[in-house]
Amino acid sequence: MKYVDEFRNPELIEKTAAEIERLATPERHYRIMEICGGHTHAIYRFGLKDLLPDNIVLIHGPGCPVCVLPMGRVDDGLALAEQDEVILTAFGDMMRVPGQRGTPLELKAQGADIRMVYSPLDALALAQKNPEKHVVFLAIGFETTAPSTALTLKRAKALGVENFSVFNNHVTIIPAIRAILDSPGMRLDAFIGPGHVSTVIGCRPYEFVARDHGRPFVTSGFEPLDLLQSMVMVLRQLAAGEAKVENQYARAVPWDGNQPALKAMSETFTLRPYFEWRGLGSISQSALAVSEAYADWDSERRFDIPGVQVTDPKAAQCGEVLKGVLKPPQCKIFGTECTPERPIGALMVSSEGACAAYYHYVHRQHTAGD
Ligand code: SF4
Repeated sequence: MKYVDEFRNPELIEKTAAEIERLATPERHYRIMEICGGHTHAIYRFGLKDLLPDNIVLIHGPGCPVCVLPMGRVDDGLALAEQDEVILTAFGDMMRVPGQRGTPLELKAQGADIRMVYSPLDALALAQKNPEKHVVFLAIGFETTAPSTALTLKRAKALGVENFSVFNNHVTIIPAIRAILDSPGMRLDAFIGPGHVSTVIGCRPYEFVARDHGRPFVTSGFEPLDLLQSMVMVLRQLAAGEAKVENQYARAVPWDGNQPALKAMSETFTLRPYFEWRGLGSISQSALAVSEAYADWDSERRFDIPGVQVTDPKAAQCGEVLKGVLKPPQCKIFGTECTPERPIGALMVSSEGACAAYYHYVHRQHTAGD
């Protein structure tokens, strides 16, 4: 546990928090977005917000893959699961994501063959074991998980497994950041960049943020000291009137990314012209489809998928929370109709969702003993 201890060292944390206090000019307000849901989770889990001065406001970004998947795509997945010969497979956090017609877990309880897997390779193995069935892998996630889907497609093709396909819902982070930067009324001062995604894409793709938009961008690790150090790096840039991309997470993130992973993705995927993001709307070239070369393993080509368009329940304010306009507890149904046990919105489902993180680490402590 040596490495974790080092990144949670109380003295170093105190020292770094003091440096943040020193750098944050009292007469200025700082709005800093942490893009990644893992960072949002860590910020709440470790109480890092309490170590920051009041004039630093953290905005939780769109980097939680479950949270940005629109309800219509969940319903499309459920429609696939209802086909007689299909076994639908998905990651665990996907199982409780509500579509209009319920969650995958609820449909499973009604008899549909839906199974949780830990990796797309598990889904492929399931297909090999069940040649009379067709196994669909419901793929979600940013560039963090897309390479494992890509490599599974390559293996399926190499082994000639014909009863397996991917329902591809992978999204890419750069267009989402562009959409945020281009949105009217954008008031962010800087970004804490995602750690996991950057282990695949590297830091170079973020250079436009500093070059074209004049905003500092620091790619960060997930431990308390990582995030506080990243904050120091951001504040130093802002104090110096600079805007550049820096890599705080250099122990895991190569500047130019993971080339074999990027190559596997470029061989198996192609960009969709448009994709609907929950809370952010339609963003061009922001999601991946299975490429022509792997068409035989593409669920969208092999099955008639309804292409359901569903608007979120009226009371749900996930979009505002995703854009940083509202904080989780400001949603009208936070903690009442929408809880981690009965989520209405996707931000309450995954532990990386801003609402679930706030609920577990702030709301529950305040209401304990009520
Ligand atoms: S409380 Fe529920 S409905 Fe409201 S923003 Fe959060 S996830 Fe969405």
